[in-house]
Amino acid sequence: MTADHSHTQNSAQVIDGKSFAQKLRGQVAEQVTSIKSKYSLTPGLAVVLVGQDPASQVYVRNKGKQTRDAGMEAFDFHLPANASHDQVVRQVQDLNGDDRVNGILVQLPLPPQVDESAIINIIDPAKDVDGFHVVNAGRLATGLPAMIPCTPLGCLTMLKETLGDLSGRRALILGRSNIVGKPMASLLVKESCTVTVAHSRTKNLKEECRRADILIAAVGKPEMVRGDWIQKGATVIDVGINRIDVPGGKSRLVGDVCFPEAVKVAGAITPVPGGVGPMTIACLLSNTVTAACLQNKISVPQPTG
Ligand code: NDP
Repeated sequence: MTADHSHTQNSAQVIDGKSFAQKLRGQVAEQVTSIKSKYSLTPGLAVVLVGQDPASQVYVRNKGKQTRDAGMEAFDFHLPANASHDQVVRQVQDLNGDDRVNGILVQLPLPPQVDESAIINIIDPAKDVDGFHVVNAGRLATGLPAMIPCTPLGCLTMLKETLGDLSGRRALILGRSNIVGKPMASLLVKESCTVTVAHSRTKNLKEECRRADILIAAVGKPEMVRGDWIQKGATVIDVGINRIDVPGGKSRLVGDVCFPEAVKVAGAITPVPGGVGPMTIACLLSNTVTAACLQNKISVPQPTG
């Protein structure tokens, strides 16, 4: 798969996350067909949504649709916004014991009365397709096979497809969350990058960013990374999804990187939307197939494409 190589003068290659995601979804669908025909097994993904957060509802709908489009079973469980912690625990425990369910995803954020970390850690690690359970986080950090969080996995896939071997490259990850920054750091260390993790206490952030061959922004601050924070020719992966108001009472999505400035300096860059977002869901589907195979002690079919 080649990304969009159409450079204009002084303009970065735009890494087409939609097209990478489409390719990966196609491979997942092929794997599902093969598992169904060889083993009469249909992988299943259960998504638990607590409350009515509009952005979460959109994500959950998309996940369900894409799961079904790939030939898998999708199970959606909606609990009310005032559901108790114990209700959510019981829901997850039910799914842990349900053989039709190979992957469990609890949509975050959860309402304040529900202890998010406790819920994540009662998911059966074998069904933890988000890779947030402490067992999977520990396995990834220590270099053991693990369920890898979908967003960093999508970023890594695009980096490798764009750059090839990542060994020896200097990577800076802006953000140290458990769902993006930290697993991303583990993955890039494993690829033999020289990794720096920056956060809100980092000194001389702009200078740190300017040294990076690979810059991954996961801060949640609209357009914080400016063009002059980027080394000429660097590869920029923008994880941020921020909704900002624009004149006329409308809003639009922007990343953590100021794209119009960055595209003039970077060698390659992911857009928002259409970059990391689509790959995240495609990686979730791929993790579900992997989980189904491991649980049934069958090998994961190798994609042909
Ligand atoms: P968190 O809020 O959990 O983490 C943000 C990180 O950014 C923290 O480590 C924080 O530092 C750091 N940070 C905040 N402000 C600054 C600053 N001014 N300077 C330097 N560092 C700063 O966010 P997430 O990791 O969950 O998400 C990051 C972004 O990625 C969000 O926009 C989110 O919407 C998006 N996202 C996109 C996904 C996708 O599918 N594309 C999936 C997941 C997230 P500290 O630790 O010191 O507080």
